[in-house]
Amino acid sequence: MKLAERAKNLTPSEPRKIYEEARKYSDVIDLTLGDPDLIPPENIRLAACDAVMAGRTRYSANAGLIQLREKIASEASREYGIELDPVSEVIVTVGAMEAAYLSLWSLLDPGDEAIIVAPFWINYKEVVKSLNAVPVFVETKEADHFIVSPEEIEKKITEKTKLLILNSPSNPTGAVIPRTTLEKIAAIAIKHDIIVISDEIYSHLVYDNRKCESILSCPGMKERTVVINGFSKRFAMTGYRIGWALAPQEIISAMTQMTENIVACAPLPAQYAAIEALSTEGTENYIREEFEKRRNCVLEEISSINEITCMGIPGTFYAFLNVSGSGMNGKEFAFALLKQKQVALIPGSAYGGETYRDHVRIAFTMESSKLREAFRRIREFLNENKRAKGSI
Ligand code: PMP
Repeated sequence: MKLAERAKNLTPSEPRKIYEEARKYSDVIDLTLGDPDLIPPENIRLAACDAVMAGRTRYSANAGLIQLREKIASEASREYGIELDPVSEVIVTVGAMEAAYLSLWSLLDPGDEAIIVAPFWINYKEVVKSLNAVPVFVETKEADHFIVSPEEIEKKITEKTKLLILNSPSNPTGAVIPRTTLEKIAAIAIKHDIIVISDEIYSHLVYDNRKCESILSCPGMKERTVVINGFSKRFAMTGYRIGWALAPQEIISAMTQMTENIVACAPLPAQYAAIEALSTEGTENYIREEFEKRRNCVLEEISSINEITCMGIPGTFYAFLNVSGSGMNGKEFAFALLKQKQVALIPGSAYGGETYRDHVRIAFTMESSKLREAFRRIREFLNENKRAKGSI
């Protein structure tokens, strides 16, 4: 059998390699998964059950239930200070993943360049490649707290550049792009007539009373921004598979036509649960508060380990740790730690190649006591390796 070239071109997933390796051991503490262990508030779960029991389980409009699109549009209007038409400027999707896929599918022709800020969420690179478009990377540095430089973005723009993909707060670094930087990026996007895809799936998981800003709220950006968002992280609803996109009418229309051909619509019980989620402000706050506690726990643990540094964790439930002080690169660190102490984490190079070889990503999607145990093992691992080196 001969697979299509694009199927053959997919890069084998590095996180999966660690995951497969981890399955060889028992008692593994798995810090690889971006999947919250918490469950959504009860009212949201009940809304999904009610929909199932009442038989509200048929197809909906391809773009999703209008009541849900109205809720999404009105929350977005409040957050971004702009008016959005729920009928033509909002689509409900099967997770933010489908929103990301549909928007790239709608916008990229073969040969078009898509600028991706590195380190990045792996899916973006793979989807861009699968469309025979060209990913162009703008790397961010730890010294800059992994905040992208607008000047560096501008340097990468060519006549083939179609769009720029931003993800703030960022998976894998947790970096949150400040408003002043977003305004500079917006000016560049307008000057060069490029579209911005702004993945804001972690926008409600920011800490220390910060607020996550969106480039959509910058003047002149509504005409050229696709916001990707969803319920997975903020409401701990990953398995419900429900997300959304906000975009100009033309893009939403293309995305809606395509979704008709691939999934028809997002699952109905999940759509009813999502309506409930956006109707009851604040019931999900315990999720952010729990992640903030864990974030504090991770920072405290790291501060007592000389070999590991971290620029801070302003948002998300990930930490991008520099392990170069251990004398190992991220890959060596990850595989040796798994083998010796059964703690699984992901080498940083998975998220942007050799530039991030000194890093590893952890997800703190488990309770603090487990995180403490993971760091106890990491400390033991580092001490044993130091002793082993010293004795050579
Ligand atoms: N964007 C980013 C940056 C993510 O990290 C993820 C999930 N890990 C998604 C989108 C997809 O989320 P969903 O579950 O809503 O498809």
